[in-house]
Formats: sequence, C-alpha cells, structure tokens
Amino acid sequence: VKRNPGEKEFIQAVDEVLESLGPVITRHPEMLEASIIERICEPERQIIFRVPWVDDTGKVQINRGFRVEFNSALGPYKGGLRFHPSVYLGIIKFLGFEQIFKNSLTGMPIGGGKGGSDFNPAGRSDGEVMRFCQSFMTELYRHIGEYTDVPAGDIGVGGREIGYLFGQYKRITNRYESGVLTGKGLTWGGSLVRTEATGYGTVMFTQDMLASRNDGLEGKTVSVSGSGNVAIYATELAQRLGANVVTASDSSGFVHDPKGIDLEMLKQIKNVERGRISTYVERRGGSAKFVPAGKGSIWEIPADVALPCATQNELHGRDAKALLGNGVIAVAEGANMPTTGEATRLFQDGDVLFAPGKAANAGGVATSALEMQQNASRDSWTFDYTYDRLREIMRGIHDTCAENAEEYGLAGNYVAGANISGFIKVADAMLAQGVI
Ligand code: NDP
Repeated sequence: VKRNPGEKEFIQAVDEVLESLGPVITRHPEMLEASIIERICEPERQIIFRVPWVDDTGKVQINRGFRVEFNSALGPYKGGLRFHPSVYLGIIKFLGFEQIFKNSLTGMPIGGGKGGSDFNPAGRSDGEVMRFCQSFMTELYRHIGEYTDVPAGDIGVGGREIGYLFGQYKRITNRYESGVLTGKGLTWGGSLVRTEATGYGTVMFTQDMLASRNDGLEGKTVSVSGSGNVAIYATELAQRLGANVVTASDSSGFVHDPKGIDLEMLKQIKNVERGRISTYVERRGGSAKFVPAGKGSIWEIPADVALPCATQNELHGRDAKALLGNGVIAVAEGANMPTTGEATRLFQDGDVLFAPGKAANAGGVATSALEMQQNASRDSWTFDYTYDRLREIMRGIHDTCAENAEEYGLAGNYVAGANISGFIKVADAMLAQGVI
C-alpha cells in the first residue's frame, strides 16, 4: 500500500492473488528465497506519456497515455488498451497484473501487460478518434513490437481504434508488422473468432463448470451486464446453447427483457448506431423495461447464471445477496474483476460455482495469441478450426484450475485454482531466468 499509494484497484487485485498463494509458497520455499512475490508485483517497466490532439472545433486536447509492461517471463508483453475517462495508473496496473496470470493460464507463450488512456471516445467523431489514436501511437510505437509488446483492444478500443493505431504504426515504422497488434480486421491480418472469443469463452467456461455438476445451460435464465464486445458475444453463445438471456446494460442503466434479449436489435443499437441501452426498450416494447443507473441493480433480476461483462467492481456484496436469494447457481466473470472481494466470498460460501475473470475471460487473449500464430505463418484459419482451438483452450483452463485447486486441498475453488495455476508457471520461468 505504501509503495503504490492511491492505486486501490491494483492493491485489490494483488490481495486477491496473494490470498491464494500460501499453500504454494509453503511447498516451494525457493520461491520465497528468490523474492518472486515482490518481483512479480513490480512491473518491469511503466510508461506514461502525453497525448496531444486537435478536436473538431480546432481546440488542442491533452490526454494521458499509459503502457505497463508487467512481466515477460513467458513471452512478449500482451494485453489490451483501454480508453475510458476512469483510466489512471492504478487501473492499468490492476489489469496488467491480472493479465500475467490469465496469459499464463492460456498455455500460450505470452507475458502480461496493459495500457490505455483517460480519453473518452463517447460522443467523439471518427476523425477525432483517428487523430487521438494517431497521436497515442506516435509515442507508443517505440515501446511495442511483435517480439516486445503486443497490445489489443479493451473497453473503448474495438476494431475501429485498432485500425487507426495499426495504420499509424505502419506509417511511422515503414513495416507491415502484422503481429504488433491483435484484434485487427479480417482483410488485414485479423483472426476469425477474435471478436467473439472473450464472450464465447466465458460461456464455454460456464458450461464446463455446470458440466462438473452434471448440469448445462439449456433452459437456464441468464443475466448479463454490459452491452459491449464481451457482453454481446456471451449473450450470443448462451442463447445458442438454449439459455434465456434476460438483461443487458451500459453506464446509463439496464434493461430487463423477460422474453429474452433480441440480440440483432442490441447489436444494431450498440455496434452500428453506437446508441444508448434505453433505445432498446423504446424499440422492443412489450414487457421489456429500462431501469436508469442508480434506480435499481441488474443483479436483483432473478437468474440461474450471472455473467458480469461490463467493468470492475460492478457486483457488490448486496448484489451477491440478491442473486443468492434468487437461487443463482453459477457466476462467471466476463469482465476483469467485476465482483468485489466480499461478493466473491458470499458466492463461495453459498456453494455457487464461481469463475474468476482471469480464467473465464481468457478466451480473448488466447485467440489473440492464435492471431499472432496466423500472422507469424502468414496464414488464416477457418472459423470452425479457430473456434475448436478456443473450445479446447477454455476446457484446458477449466481443467487446470479444477485440478490445481484439488491438488492444494481447495477442491471446487476456481479462484484459488486459477491463481495457483497461473502463478506457478510464471514463477518457475522467473526462477529459471535468474534475478532480472
Ligand atoms: P466495451 O467497451 O466493448 O464495452 C464495455 C461495456 O461495459 C459497455 O456496455 C459500457 O457501457 C459498460 N461499462 C463500461 N464502464 C462502465 C461503468 N463504469 N459503469 C457501467 N457500465 C460500464 O468493452 P469490452 O466488452 O471489451 O470489455 C468489458 C470488460 O471485459 C472489461 O472489464 C474488459 O477489461 C474485459 N475484457 C475484455 C476483453 C476483450 O477481448 N474485449 C478480454 C478480456 C476481458 P458504456 O458504453 O455506457 O460505457
């Protein structure tokens, strides 16, 4: 806390990981001797920079850019860029720290990093977003590369932004280095399934947790928060597997649609029109209801399965109590750290299957690594092949978490299983690579 003043999300993320590691350290005293814990909590490098750009009225705007290169024991730094007004160093460090263990869990050769800016793309024109992205990349380019650090999207950074960032990287470096960014468009080095991967992966993990209790998603009522990339594709796969998804949200409020979310309508409003969630209810009519932010919680809607897919700390203790009161059986984090520590403990004490984000939402970065593989071999795979690889990776993550939790006497605890599995691999690599 003293070393990282004011970085509350980072401290929360570190606490949650370290809480699980006692049994590992007891079994491996060599990790303690080599100060692995202290080293893993300190980023290898953090870059903070000015991002000046000119808005449509001709006014000069200044934002702050970040890239935290956290750990490269397993491969080049890898992790998304977030553009959101709430971004500051503590958010980027929490995301970068989580990313180390998530990337390790995927089994792919990627280290952990994260970046972004306090730039708010909401309400900005395409031209403004482009000029911002070009200015951002004009500093970032010198720190990234296929073998160094490979950014991708996150909140506020989708296909449009990755396009502008890639274009500027290519222009400055005079290199068509496809592997420098992931989440690219399909005609210029992107991978099929990348767009869907995080949301799909979260639902696959949920399927595997339910299967461990001989259950499935068919006929289940599911509540999903958010209406961005992760939420939309979590909804899509859950519906395809026979679940009834009854909610969606954004920062202005949530909708409850008991007949089931009309996904085509939601995609049109959010992805094409970049509109607000209340438009969904205006257009859908019937029994669909809009509840403005602050007037009620999305988690009060009865559901068998809850998938928080919006942002950090969006599901609190009182929300967990509401879900438990309505008989929830599984919760999987599509977003990063959406559930507070208190809510997580309530779910675990209530015998709810609970999947932490670093395991449940790892499908996105895993498919980014598949995109890097395709770029390296100048190849592009079919949708079905890539989907099957994702399915296999998610099953692998589920089984590794379950096995390690059991191995360390914490059977059924996916939080401990994910932290332990992710940590051991990184710690072993750090030990092998010496004091660096
Ligand atoms: P998007 O920008 O596509 O969507 C984010 C959604 O969450 C929007 O509906 C947004 O609403 C809502 N939201 C964001 N901040 C807040 C807030 N403070 N309060 C209420 N709602 C909010 O982002 P993604 O779907 O890509 O990311 C969602 C989560 O998933 C994040 O935690 C991200 O780190 C995580 N994640 C994403 C991956 C990916 O591949 N994209 C990979 C792994 C994790 P509004 O439009 O009103 O802001």
